[in-house]
Amino acid sequence: MIPVLSHETSAGELYFKLQEMLGDVVPDFELKYKAELAVEINRLKVEKNAVILGHNYMEPALFHSIPDYVGDSLDLARRAATTDKDIIVFCGVRFMAETAKILNPARTVLLPSRKAGCSLAASITAADVRELKQKFPGVPVVTYVNTYADVKAESDVCCTSSNATAVVESLKTDTVIFLPDEYLAKNVARETGRHIIFPTRDPRNGLSAELDYQMIGWPGRCEVHEKFTVEDITNVRKQFPDVVILAHPECSPAVVEASDFSGSTTAMIRYVEKTRAPRYLLLTECSMGDNVAASNPDKEMLRLCSIRCPHMNEITLEDTLLALQKEQYEIRIDEETRRKAYRAVERMLAIG
Ligand code: SF4
Repeated sequence: MIPVLSHETSAGELYFKLQEMLGDVVPDFELKYKAELAVEINRLKVEKNAVILGHNYMEPALFHSIPDYVGDSLDLARRAATTDKDIIVFCGVRFMAETAKILNPARTVLLPSRKAGCSLAASITAADVRELKQKFPGVPVVTYVNTYADVKAESDVCCTSSNATAVVESLKTDTVIFLPDEYLAKNVARETGRHIIFPTRDPRNGLSAELDYQMIGWPGRCEVHEKFTVEDITNVRKQFPDVVILAHPECSPAVVEASDFSGSTTAMIRYVEKTRAPRYLLLTECSMGDNVAASNPDKEMLRLCSIRCPHMNEITLEDTLLALQKEQYEIRIDEETRRKAYRAVERMLAIG
């Protein structure tokens, strides 16, 4: 588990702690400035009875200074569901903050930037899901948590990259609709030994009794993970033959296959903590490599930092401070949508 700094830490103490952890990654003058911002955020957080949840992709100085809890979307959903604080500030992207609101509607949920979206969540609408349900009546719908509340509301159960296989297997059905990540769906299909199809709007590609399908997917992609290639892996292994490569399951099946391990961001962190390789490469958002390196100074991490998530990078210490000062930007979901989405998210949390 990545250590989180105490709320009572002064700007000077915080600066020294950040320097110790991030001195090789973040310039010194920036660390001093960020320590001051973080101390003010932590003061306001206590004054306003708020909790800050930080996703593993947050930039290193933010990640190691203000969140009360850090983790992947499943870890943070669980934290959001049980907090008794008045305000939840979500340092992540919109669908994560929405999940917090779905699970804990009595709290005020704030997302520090309006621009923190997600290419996967934007790839599908509630109308698309309704159309699929019409086309494949009675087939259960599993949606990745990387979707907006109205899409979750049309689903039977949600999943994250940590529990996608367990959720699909728990349904004990021959066929599932799995949305919207094409690569995660293909990776889950391979793991569960299922055949997957991707229906189009072409009527000739409609439901057919003879068609051999067990999973029905959707062509959504994460704009970060889709960019990693087998060629990247080959090149890195040529230069560093002893590297251990970890791929997120939103990467293509070929990339997952060519890697040494595949798992959610939390599973990748645990893997690095528990193993002893000469060096590691995480095929995921670059900030996570910095965060893992800071928490494991004895491990060498390679980075492929040309690939960044523009949405996660929208969340800064400056915007988080403003979010607390002005109590912006509040997540609102109409109650009927929330209630329907809650069933799907709650069902996922019960599975594990
Ligand atoms: S990393 Fe990919 S899945 Fe995650 S928020 Fe960014 S675009 Fe969405």
